Amino acid sequence: MSEINHLMNVYKRRNIRFVSGRGNYLVDTFGREYLDAISGVAVTSLGHSHPEIAAVIAIQASRLLHTSNMFSIEWQERLAEQLCRISGMSRAFFCNSGAEANETALKLARLHGARKGFQAPEVIVMDKSFHGRTFATLSASGNPAGHAGFAPLVPGFRRVPFGDIDAIRKIAGQACQVTAVLMEPVQGEGGVNVASPDFLRSVRQICTEQGWLLMMDEVQTGLGRTGKWFGFQHADILPDVITVAKALGNGIPVGGCLASGEAAGYFMPGNHGSTFGGNPLACRVGCQVIDIIERDNLLMNASEGGILLRDYLRSQMQDFECVTAIRSHGMMAGIEFSRPCEELADICASQEKLLINVTREKTVRLLPALISTENEIAMIAQRLARATRTWLRKE
Ligand SMILES: *Cc1c(COP(=O)(O)O)cnc(C)c1O
Repeated sequence: MSEINHLMNVYKRRNIRFVSGRGNYLVDTFGREYLDAISGVAVTSLGHSHPEIAAVIAIQASRLLHTSNMFSIEWQERLAEQLCRISGMSRAFFCNSGAEANETALKLARLHGARKGFQAPEVIVMDKSFHGRTFATLSASGNPAGHAGFAPLVPGFRRVPFGDIDAIRKIAGQACQVTAVLMEPVQGEGGVNVASPDFLRSVRQICTEQGWLLMMDEVQTGLGRTGKWFGFQHADILPDVITVAKALGNGIPVGGCLASGEAAGYFMPGNHGSTFGGNPLACRVGCQVIDIIERDNLLMNASEGGILLRDYLRSQMQDFECVTAIRSHGMMAGIEFSRPCEELADICASQEKLLINVTREKTVRLLPALISTENEIAMIAQRLARATRTWLRKE
């Protein structure tokens, strides 16, 4: 690696460079193989270098990549149909990332307010939430570190503690210009905090009573991560707006905002758009991802694998005195420590060849691919436990 780095200093990077991957494994420049328990942050849910994904990328790349949204795009229509079928929504808009998908949702919330004649519409958001890095989505996110230095933030957000239904009820009881609630069914960056089905149902009920849009950020939880297509489906509710991205392209950038009811018809030509959004390549890959999840029963694999992951983590990790909580939902798990544990991720990578991520300083986050086998899940827990012992010995 050269001495001078011309990249902006946005990320804290580990000094490892991967050159190839297959399934749950990545290979670095020295030929060393790593077990990937983070999947590029919930992106490569079908594993690395999936042969059918690689094949459709090659076929579509040699046929047609881009025409612009001035013309009709067959794969975009097909992906919209597929996503509406699995989510219960009625229309889709495509973009290239989770933040853009949430920007789209937030613009729908503003249009919802404009219809009611609100001058200062507001969206209720949660503590510890993460919705992206653009101005509106960082303003919506409940991470003070992400706000520092970026004032003035986008106005129009009201923050409540995650899971606190009384705080939402209190707002509903006052005169307000709230138009929507935006939340994750499981907070990923926030430390794997799982919303209870009761909380989700109560939020749905308040939104219905008040005429607020319920907007679910399923960027991390969507497409099977929790063992169902979407996290909200565990509560048997239907949101008004859903955002997706990450796993939809298995590594090809693609995001989407889905809506039902009136909100699905708010945008008119000229209101919104994206040059790259919904291009034939990204949408064809999205269709292939959904096909593979269905054909290979990966929802079941994720829900059964998630139970195994939880059980292995409990048996291997809960006896450490420094572990204060183990939270999980499907193939999302968070192991919270009593102190910052970034060093544990270094030890996992260097000594155990296990790739994990630490979020909120004290929580190890695991997001294994949905294709993970029992053996791989057991190995994740074993390697993490061994690395934890090494870490504690060093302290
Ligand atoms: C990753 C993430 C985002 C942002 O997605 P980008 O593609 O990085 O813009 C938004 N919401 C949630 C819940 C996420 O996990």
